Amino acid sequence: MMRLPSFRYRAPRTIDEAAAWLAESPSDTMLLAGGTDLIPNMKRRQQTPRNVIALRHLDALKARSCASEITLGAGVTLTDIVHDDHLRANCRGLWQAAAQVATPHLRSMGTIGGNLCLDTRCTYYDQSLEWRKAIDFCMKKDGKTCWVATSSPRCLAVSSTDTAPMLLALGARVRLVSSHGERTIDAADLYHNDGMRYLTRRPDEILTHILVPDQTGRESAYWKLRRRGSFDFPVASAAASVRIVDGRVASARIALGAVASRPLLSTAAADVLLNQPLTDEIISAAADAAYEIAKPMDNTDFELLWRKKMVKSLVTAALREVRGDDVRELRRKIARQQMS
Ligand SMILES: Cc1cc2nc3c(=O)[nH]c(=O)nc-3n(C[C@H](O)[C@H](O)[C@H](O)COP(=O)(O)OP(=O)(O)OC[C@H]3O[C@@H](n4cnc5c(N)ncnc54)[C@H](O)[C@@H]3O)c2cc1C
Ligand code: SF4
Repeated sequence: MMRLPSFRYRAPRTIDEAAAWLAESPSDTMLLAGGTDLIPNMKRRQQTPRNVIALRHLDALKARSCASEITLGAGVTLTDIVHDDHLRANCRGLWQAAAQVATPHLRSMGTIGGNLCLDTRCTYYDQSLEWRKAIDFCMKKDGKTCWVATSSPRCLAVSSTDTAPMLLALGARVRLVSSHGERTIDAADLYHNDGMRYLTRRPDEILTHILVPDQTGRESAYWKLRRRGSFDFPVASAAASVRIVDGRVASARIALGAVASRPLLSTAAADVLLNQPLTDEIISAAADAAYEIAKPMDNTDFELLWRKKMVKSLVTAALREVRGDDVRELRRKIARQQMS
C-alpha cells in the first residue's frame, strides 16, 4: 500500500488566512483542493510538500454566478459544473470539457481550480517510486535526464487538463490572490510551455476565481481523444468558441490540449475562420492551421504522429458541432478509432 509522506496540514477559513499561511513558506507548501491529483502524486513521491494548505473550507471559492459574465470560484467542483443547467445551455464547451474529466467520483471531488493547475503528465513520471528509481528518475523529479528526449534541456511532460483549453477558447481570465494583493490575467497567460514550470502562478499565489466573458451569441464545443471513453486523460483535444453574425464568423478562438506542455491557442486557425461562412472548406483549412502548432511528444498513450493527425479530426468535429451539424456519427467514428 502506498502511504503519504508526513507533512503539516492546515485548513484556513478565509482566503486571507490561506494567503498569509502560504506566504510563510511558498516554496515547500502546496494547495490542496479536491486532492484527486495531488494526493496520488504525494503517495508516489512525485510531489513532496512539507506543508499542505487545504482549500476545501473556503466558501468564497465555491461561489458561482452566471450573470452576463460567468464567475466560477476555483473550488467549484466539476460535478457542480456538470449539474449546472445554465452552463450546459449557455457555455456548452465548458460543460462538455468538465463532463469528460475522469469519472463521476473524481469529478465530485475534483475542482475547476485544481483542473487548471493540474500537474503535467508523462509515461516516465506517472509511475511508482520504485519504477522511477529503477530508471534513475528523470529531470522532472530527482533525476537529471529527460527520457522522452535525452538531449532536451527542458521537461516535455504533457498538459493534460481538459478545462484549460476550453477556457482559453472562451477567452476566460483567472484571478490570483496572494498576501501582497491580487491580479487578474488571461487564462492563456497562466501557462508556460515547460513540463516542470508549467504555470506562471507564483508559489505564493492562490487561484481564486475564473471569469468567463458573456457567451451570448457564441457557440462552443470541446472534443477529446482518449483510450477509454468512460474515463481517461486526454491525449489530444480541441476547443472551439465561435460567434456567427449574418452567416459569417465574427470572432473565433481555437485551442488545443494535450499536444504540448501547455494548452495552445491557434491564432492561425482563428484567422482562417474570421469573416468567412463556416463551410466544410473553411473548417478544413482551419483544422490544417491548428494541426501545424500541435507538437505531441512520445510521453503518453498512443503513437505521437497519430495523435497529431487526429488534431485535424478533433478541430473539424468541434467546428462542425459549433455550426450545428448532427455530430453523433462523427463521435462514434472517433470513439471507434481511439479504441482500436
Ligand atoms: C484516474 C484519474 C483520471 C483522471 N482523468 C482526468 C481527465 O480525464 N482529465 C483531467 O483534466 N483530469 C483528470 N484527472 C485529474 C484530476 O482528477 C482532475 O484534473 C481534477 O480536476 C483536479 O482537481 P483537484 O481539485 O482534485 O486538484 P488537486 O489534486 O487538489 O490539485 C491539483 C493541483 O492544483 C493545485 N491547486 C489546486 N487548487 C488550486 C488553487 N485554487 N490555486 C492554486 N493551485 C491549486 C494543487 O496544489 C495541485 O498542484 C484524473 C485523475 C485520476 C486519478
Ligand atoms: S518529459 Fe522528460 S523530464 Fe519530463 S517527466 Fe517525462 S521523462 Fe521526465
